[in-house]
Formats: sequence, C-alpha cells, structure tokens
Amino acid sequence: MRTPIVAGNWKMNKTVEEARLLVFDMSRKLREIEGVDKVLCPPFPALLAVSALLQGTDIGMGAQNLYWEEKGAFTGEVAPNMVAEFCKYVIIGHSERRAYFGETDETVNKKVRAALAHDLTPIMCVGETEDEYESNRTGEVVRRQISLGLTEVDPAKAASLIVAYEPIWAIGTGKASSGENANAVLADYIRPALADLFGADTAQAIRIQYGGSVNGSNADEFFSQPEIDGALVGGASLKKDDFVAIVQAASKS
Ligand code: PEP
Repeated sequence: MRTPIVAGNWKMNKTVEEARLLVFDMSRKLREIEGVDKVLCPPFPALLAVSALLQGTDIGMGAQNLYWEEKGAFTGEVAPNMVAEFCKYVIIGHSERRAYFGETDETVNKKVRAALAHDLTPIMCVGETEDEYESNRTGEVVRRQISLGLTEVDPAKAASLIVAYEPIWAIGTGKASSGENANAVLADYIRPALADLFGADTAQAIRIQYGGSVNGSNADEFFSQPEIDGALVGGASLKKDDFVAIVQAASKS
C-alpha cells in the first residue's frame, strides 16, 4: 500500500505575508485530514516563515527547485543543503522550468541525485506536450524522461522518490486528462520504466502523482485510479477550499 501524497506548488505566487495568511487559513483543516501526506511548496523567500508555521504539524514543506552544486559562485541559485535546512521535499524538472529555464533530462538528473544525497525527497516531474500527445508519443517521452532523469540514482534510495506525471497540455489550462488516461500512462509506461531501472518491487513502492488542472471537483476521478498516488496541484493549491477538498479526496482513496 502506497500512502497518497498531495503537494501544492504555489509557483511564483505569495509574498511572505500572503504566504503566512494562506497557511493560517488552510492548516487547521489540513491537519484534521489523515491517511495522506500533505506538502506545501511556497516560493523560496517564504520558506522560513512557512516552516515556522508548520512546526509541530504533519504538513510537510517542499521547495520548487534547487541547484546541484554544494556552494560557490552560482549567482541566484540555491544549494541542496540550503533547501534541506527547511524542506523535506523538492520539486524537480517541472515543465515550466524545462520550458522557460532550459532544464534538460541531464540537469534534472543532477538535481535529483543532489537532492537524494541531502536526504531530500525529489518530486520529479515528467509529461508530454500537446503535440507529443496528439502524435501518440506520450510513452516514448515519459520513458525517456524517467530513464535519463533517474540514471545512476542509488537503488537503495529510489523507493523514496516521487514522480509527478503532468501532461503539459493539462497544466494550468483547466483541461485535465481523464483519470483513465492518466492511469494508463502510469501503468503502461512510467511504472515499467521505473521497474527497468530499479526492479519491480522498488517500482511498486514509488509513489506517482498526477498533475494538471486537478481541483476539488475532479480529484476523486484521479484518486480512484489504482496507479495514481496523489496529485501535484498548481492553481487550486492557492485556494483553501479547493486544496482541502483535494486532500480530503486523497485521504479517502
Ligand atoms: C503544476 O503546475 O504542477 C500544475 C499541476 O498546475 P495546475 O494544477 O494549475 O494545472
């Protein structure tokens, strides 16, 4: 049995003060929900304030990125040990980082390995573009992203990884995949690719989220699927009622 995990990716939203207000607003309700791992991923400047508010709760915190080097002349970057001071999780290879900031499967792999070396849990994102989806290349794309993104990952640490399957055409568009379609991608391509790398037992233990326009109304459709172990949520994670409803749906799955 894999415990479902729902993570809210706040992206480039919320000042420190706004972040505090949002956490005040949602944390009491979130704490009441059991049987699901809950994670908030605010932007870097808000991590300190949010971590203080989450102290002593069962709500985890994640960063939205890191750099793989330990320290030095890398202006604007954040090292893994700096992230690990506050966070348990880190999102890596989000499609927006791949599209706007030049991230590749190779840099994603460096980041995943750096995160694991610092005992952070990577949430590694994979997913196809609309063109790739329409030309039936989803399998080829996500298999490549898994195999290159996770190359040379220590098999002893692999079970703690989280993979987020996020079809790019569904992110922020309100056009979610169907639960059945997403489940098939996980069953036919992602878990088999994980098994090729780490063996069937470890592949079964790795949690795979769906991401892409999940909200309080459609969450059940995804969480009722056997392969889907939670969600990576963008827009709806900034709305208390929606995010709480998503976490509630995951807890019942
Ligand atoms: C995301 O950015 O990871 C995401 C899933 O966004 P949204 O929920 O807004 O589609």
